[in-house]
Amino acid sequence: MAPRTLRSAEDLHAAGLIPAAALAAAGRVGARYSIAVTPAVAGLIDRADPADPIARQYVPDAAELVTAPHESADPTADAPFTPLPGVVHRYPDRALLKPLLACPVYCRFCFRREAVGPDGGVLGEAELEAALGWFARTPAVREAILTGGDPLMLSARRLGEILRRLAAIPHIELLRIHSRVPVAAPGLVTAAMAAALDLGKPLYLCVHANHAREFSAEAQAALRRLHGAGVVLLGQSVLLRGVNDSEAALEDLFRAMLRARVKPYYLHQLDAAPGTARFAVPVAEGRALLRGLRRRVTGLAWPTYVQETPGGGGKVPLGPVFEA
Ligand code: SF4
Repeated sequence: MAPRTLRSAEDLHAAGLIPAAALAAAGRVGARYSIAVTPAVAGLIDRADPADPIARQYVPDAAELVTAPHESADPTADAPFTPLPGVVHRYPDRALLKPLLACPVYCRFCFRREAVGPDGGVLGEAELEAALGWFARTPAVREAILTGGDPLMLSARRLGEILRRLAAIPHIELLRIHSRVPVAAPGLVTAAMAAALDLGKPLYLCVHANHAREFSAEAQAALRRLHGAGVVLLGQSVLLRGVNDSEAALEDLFRAMLRARVKPYYLHQLDAAPGTARFAVPVAEGRALLRGLRRRVTGLAWPTYVQETPGGGGKVPLGPVFEA
């Protein structure tokens, strides 16, 4: 039988990813926030390392049951910028389309953790038509950004249809997709999926990855297929305690991206989603890490370090600032 995605505390225990002593707490976490670890990700985890940086991103922890006072269920404040279901319009020239809320994996630090999940919404036909109609009659919007959930969880046919509809709108100049699929479930990036992304307009795909080991041979092959279809590949990462909070880990991550034809784009400061405090790295420490990294890597490996401002004010670059 082909290995399947692990979706419960019991699954994780049976796969040797959590000890019996952690089962009850992981079960309570799983009742609140979705769990999914794909076979590709499970295969990357070093079970002998209790601090494994891959496991830390995906395996639930009792600390998630504690919500700190500064944490919020909607840290990026999408709700006030949602003109209709599935659309977020925060900046004049671009808008998000969220066709579904399912992901291949559920990251323990996710800023949309209160919304995403396997039972999470897929826009129905009428809602999708309404959303596409909104893009068509909003000429200020030049960029359509598909996110979710993970748009590459849709079938190639379905995703291709949505992309073609958006690309046919004259004022939409470029399309963008945010996805964890190329690293977390690279088998979903089939030749048919790559063909569906080969459009007459530029398509940028932001690959979310936080550790060099996520760029497995399979992930690299998936990214190669996307690159071959003319997709421009960008990397986005989150600065995470215990995953990539050292100059060496960041250097390895951004070098791995470049080897996979992915240009590091954003390094995000952690958003204060509920139960994620164990991943937080202070901004001053983040700036110091980037300052050190600048001496170690080519400018191509240099992302912009950004933070979402509370209340939906958008992203601001955090520096560091260098004196000439
Ligand atoms: S893949 Fe993205 S949206 Fe899905 S759980 Fe991870 S961080 Fe959240």
